[in-house]
Amino acid sequence: MGTIVSFALYTDGDGKAVLKELGACIEETEAEIAWRREESAISRINQSAGNPDGCVLPEDLQEEFIKIWQISKNSGGALDVTIAPVVRLWNIDTWAVSEEEEILEAGNFLPVETELAEKLLFTGYENVTIEENCIFLPEGFGLDLGAVGKGMTCDRILAFLEETKETENSVEAAVCSLGGNILTYGEKPDGSPWKVGITDPFQTDCYLGVLTLTGTNFVTTSGDYERYVEVDGVRYHHIIDPQTGYPANSGLRSVTILSEDGLTGDALSTACFVLGSKEALKLAKQYEAEILMVTEDGEIIMSEGMAEIFQAL
Ligand code: AMP
Ligand code: MG
Repeated sequence: MGTIVSFALYTDGDGKAVLKELGACIEETEAEIAWRREESAISRINQSAGNPDGCVLPEDLQEEFIKIWQISKNSGGALDVTIAPVVRLWNIDTWAVSEEEEILEAGNFLPVETELAEKLLFTGYENVTIEENCIFLPEGFGLDLGAVGKGMTCDRILAFLEETKETENSVEAAVCSLGGNILTYGEKPDGSPWKVGITDPFQTDCYLGVLTLTGTNFVTTSGDYERYVEVDGVRYHHIIDPQTGYPANSGLRSVTILSEDGLTGDALSTACFVLGSKEALKLAKQYEAEILMVTEDGEIIMSEGMAEIFQAL
């Protein structure tokens, strides 16, 4: 998934065996949703673009897609997994790891405006039809689940951890981290709460504060510091405003969501980043999620529930 994954498990069983199965669980999800993998369900869907017969949606994706499309609608299109053609054109992932300084200085990676405008014509979640177990993509369209994939994976990890209860390798408690997505599960044997650090977007090797949590929670952060290129003081990052085709410029540097499922948290963190603080607060409330935002000015804006569990460092 292009990120660092880490686990801490509390079990009286064989922890190594559990870790191995967890790895397989992640691998399985990635094999299903990664657009770069030719055999993935997403690749099959993308290859079906323009086909009037559509493409059959695997059962586990059906419910997830309905959720994603609902959040797209409720966010006014701020979340849009059909943004793929534009994301490909920007190719920020590649530039972000590039060491070709001269090219970056020349700003050569900036997409040509007319090309960007053309790619935008092949986006729009509302142009995709989902009917029972079938999805219909118009010609030239494609899906990129980058904004929701890690959250979906966290949901599957939770289901796996719950299943271990029936086995000799029962996991009592765990904390899983997939890049900016954290899952806390169960209660630690010593009864102490979970502490989840929130990265300071101005100094990414530091935390700006800590959330104190009990039991099972999903904490998801989207930020402009994850994958970006900076040229002449302008930061081109990986979260695109589907209305403009350019990196979102809503006055936020990061958004953290506390939610009851991973997919919702991941979808909301991206959508809220694009929307900006005012609309983001409303959207989070609609989904009964807690939200913390860091603005460009370094201000921290939080929902009430978030303020109760957040401690600044
Ligand atoms: P996240 O880190 O969860 O906010 O997801 C960002 C990733 O989702 C990017 O790297 C793109 O692959 C993709 N993406 C960028 N902008 C959007 C958007 N507005 N809606 C959906 N996916 C997006
Ligand atoms: Mg996201």
